[in-house]
Amino acid sequence: MHELYKDSNGNEPAYPRYYRQAEKKLKREQRKLSLMQKGSKNRDKQRIKIAKLHEKVANQRKDFLHKQSRQITNVYDCVCVEDLDMKAMSQALNFGKSVSDNGWGMFVTYLKYKLEERGKILVKVDKFFASSQTCSCCGYVNKETKSLAIRAWDCPQCGVHHDRDVNAAINIRNEGMRIALA
Ligand SMILES: [Zn+2]
Repeated sequence: MHELYKDSNGNEPAYPRYYRQAEKKLKREQRKLSLMQKGSKNRDKQRIKIAKLHEKVANQRKDFLHKQSRQITNVYDCVCVEDLDMKAMSQALNFGKSVSDNGWGMFVTYLKYKLEERGKILVKVDKFFASSQTCSCCGYVNKETKSLAIRAWDCPQCGVHHDRDVNAAINIRNEGMRIALA
């Protein structure tokens, strides 16, 4: 997962290249560490190197998340997001670290306080809301799109072609607006 999210306009901001490179380097250095002899001087040195790299990666991620949430706050008065349980999701899908580490929780936290600081709102839509299976045009519920492998589909009822994530984002926006205006 190189993208942080996909929105209802089809935007999907990717993590910057330098961040992904630093992340790769971190993984490489961690592998090296695992091969070093316990109690050795080299292992100690490597541990320090990794701790520094870790901090660098964490700071780059925070910078990116701040920048993204700031941009959204500048443009929108109300932002609707799916209330994802990233831990359960990564376990269920066997994605391991990549999902839980993509900073989603941190991003939502930044977004929320930045919006609220300016009198704007963040609406969380229940994760059980079947956003990826419902046609955002006609409301038809397509049980066949449950699998994450299906990235695009045509609505059998109204014929509209959907990008899975954009369609889901539109549904989340509509449901969030309904909650916000209720
Ligand atoms: Zn439809």
